Amino acid sequence: MRPDDLLQPTPRGLYCPPADVYIDPVRPVEKALITHGHSDHARPGHGAVLATDTTLKIMAIRYGEDFAGTTQAAAWGRPVTINGVTFTFHPAGHILGSAQIAVSWKGLTIVASGDYKRGRDPTAEPFEVVPCDVFITEATFGLPVFRHPDPAAEVAKLLASLRLFPDRAHLVGAYALGKAQRVMSLVRAAGWDQPIYMHGAAEKLTRFYEAEGIDLGEVRLVKAADRKALGGAVVLCPPGSMKDLWARRFPDPVTAFASGWMRVRARARQGGVELPLIISDHSDWDELRETIRETGASEVWVTHGQEDALVHWCGTMGLRARPLRIVGYGEEGEAEPADLAPASVEPGA
Ligand SMILES: [Zn+2]
Ligand SMILES: [Zn+2]
Repeated sequence: MRPDDLLQPTPRGLYCPPADVYIDPVRPVEKALITHGHSDHARPGHGAVLATDTTLKIMAIRYGEDFAGTTQAAAWGRPVTINGVTFTFHPAGHILGSAQIAVSWKGLTIVASGDYKRGRDPTAEPFEVVPCDVFITEATFGLPVFRHPDPAAEVAKLLASLRLFPDRAHLVGAYALGKAQRVMSLVRAAGWDQPIYMHGAAEKLTRFYEAEGIDLGEVRLVKAADRKALGGAVVLCPPGSMKDLWARRFPDPVTAFASGWMRVRARARQGGVELPLIISDHSDWDELRETIRETGASEVWVTHGQEDALVHWCGTMGLRARPLRIVGYGEEGEAEPADLAPASVEPGA
């Protein structure tokens, strides 16, 4: 049997013929398995959805309770069998509830990892290495130039700026799902004990993280705050809001931005970011290679991002590898500077 008999790229996404299901389909389908709640992977309008309970709840928050015909929650590590094919969800460490999906049939195992990272993050279940024959990996930061620094050191830059400019609000651009809550958690770990403020776009998801037991300290809405309290405050806001009317309530803000793309200084400059914070929820070049090795896979399929360098590296390691080139995965969790323009609050959400 060839791996393609079990999973194959199609214009709608990764398709599993024997089970007749798609993983992270980019168009509405009858049966979908979803790795995580980012809008490029989790779309509304499918007939039936199988995902972790957390991902199902996130989809309901974003799209409404009727986002799919029917839903089924997958428990961590417990196989679900469909037409003889077993699907098992394992943590991906990317955002809360994010999963890799192991697909096994007739002795062959393929792991579709969705988006993943390996670094410590109290706002997501820690990544688990899943041994497999074929590993499907993202490659958002699949170039040797991308080596993410310690996020604690990045947040230390933010706190240093707050000490230097104690009267200026510090606007931190970060996506509403995952990145915003991770930055809050990092700011707390660095010892910041004042209230953290957020844009309304992050409210429901942040309250959801709190309800799931993620401690973020006191988080308040900007619109409920009096103007004076915002001087010297940490304010999380979606990338698109930073140049909107919304941001004009802050008289002289310091603009920061949390993304793996901030590793590229030119991109930070283009976006007018004063304080780039290299904080990513994706694996960097080292993590990608380490993970491929640890899975023991002899074949690697590379989805969205910088596929070519990673495919080439696999070749030098004696691994079969190919880019999947599925169209439709953007990077909701990793804003590019284009996202800093007004009126692009959140792709697909
Ligand atoms: Zn994602
Ligand atoms: Zn993605």
